[in-house]
Amino acid sequence: MNTAENELYSPKKGAMISIKNSIRETILRFFKEALEKKTFDAILIPVKVPAGDSYTWILVEDISLLKNAAPIAPIMPVQGANALSSLTRKGKGNLKIAAILRPCEIRAAIELSKLEQVNLETLYLFSFDCPGALPLLDYTKNPPKGEELFESFFNENKWNEEQIKPVCKMCDNFSIPNCDLHFGILGVEKNNLLLIPNSSKGESVLNEMGIAYKNDLSSWKKKVNEIEKEKEKTKKETYHNIQPMVEGLDSLLQTFAKCIGCHNCMTVCPICYCRQCYFDSEVSKFTSDDYLLRAEKRGGLRFPTDIILFQSGRMSHMSLSCVSCGMCEDVCPTSIPVAQIFSYVADKTQKAFEYKPGRNIGEPLPLKEYKEEELQEIKKSLNESVGQE
Ligand code: SF4
Ligand code: SF4
Repeated sequence: MNTAENELYSPKKGAMISIKNSIRETILRFFKEALEKKTFDAILIPVKVPAGDSYTWILVEDISLLKNAAPIAPIMPVQGANALSSLTRKGKGNLKIAAILRPCEIRAAIELSKLEQVNLETLYLFSFDCPGALPLLDYTKNPPKGEELFESFFNENKWNEEQIKPVCKMCDNFSIPNCDLHFGILGVEKNNLLLIPNSSKGESVLNEMGIAYKNDLSSWKKKVNEIEKEKEKTKKETYHNIQPMVEGLDSLLQTFAKCIGCHNCMTVCPICYCRQCYFDSEVSKFTSDDYLLRAEKRGGLRFPTDIILFQSGRMSHMSLSCVSCGMCEDVCPTSIPVAQIFSYVADKTQKAFEYKPGRNIGEPLPLKEYKEEELQEIKKSLNESVGQE
């Protein structure tokens, strides 16, 4: 069984690991040991940049390079699924690679694997109970303060803090995604962590490393459920506040009035994966006469043009797979709550198709695969409309 099949896998037991110094250091120690034992050839992990004010993804083979690594970084400068896509877009490699990502990054990677942008075959996906990430701008204003704040989430067991990104506050998918191994932090005995296998690939890692997994998961599950309920409530409230910003053309025009058309939101989105985007192509550029004609018709034309076309185009393209990671909102220079808006729209689309992005790799993308019954429905409605003519 591999990651693709772990819909059928239900974790029952985990390995208790005692925390030394801090949760993040303990996880790092696990990866050092795994590299030493050659369980993996390399690890894809966030590492602090030399200036100390951001993180970048590094594929680490040399254990000494793990000294500045942070398995749970306080920020998300690049979505982990994008890093996995760069690593495996041309197919699987020969190395056994572990990657530690936030649950939303794993969900995005699973969506991308359905679109043949990520190959998960030789990857071992690790995740953790995610306390959320700090907004990029807040962190870069004062990185040491950001580090201290983020560390306090773990030390003081804070799971719903004001300072995290708005989408993280309402994320009810912050624990065990469709990964191979998961670090359970919540509800675990003091000074301990749970390492939970979530696929047979995950089990094989623990067996190979000689780590027994016999510990009960009930108290971890209970705490995860509790936080999930709190987050669901916040989500409801957030969607209630976002609704008037997006329902109807006038609301959309008002909401995106300050959009400067920089396309940052598109560039960082893991789901916007097209190599050539219409909005960046020559086809989307017109002659001045064309623009004049449009200005004449309306009495005036705003530049940059087609802001709503861009936003609605993006919504229709990726709302089935949006994982509410918040990257788009993190990089919007005009502070439009893009991720909350996209999450709201995505929630509606995903519910309509009974689809959850990243839930399972074996679950086809609704717009990529058609069921025969659906075609019959189309045929029936076509026949009806021909009959009415
Ligand atoms: S639209 Fe925004 S929140 Fe949704 S997947 Fe893309 S970057 Fe993440
Ligand atoms: S990042 Fe913000 S300003 Fe830039 S295109 Fe997206 S919504 Fe507009």
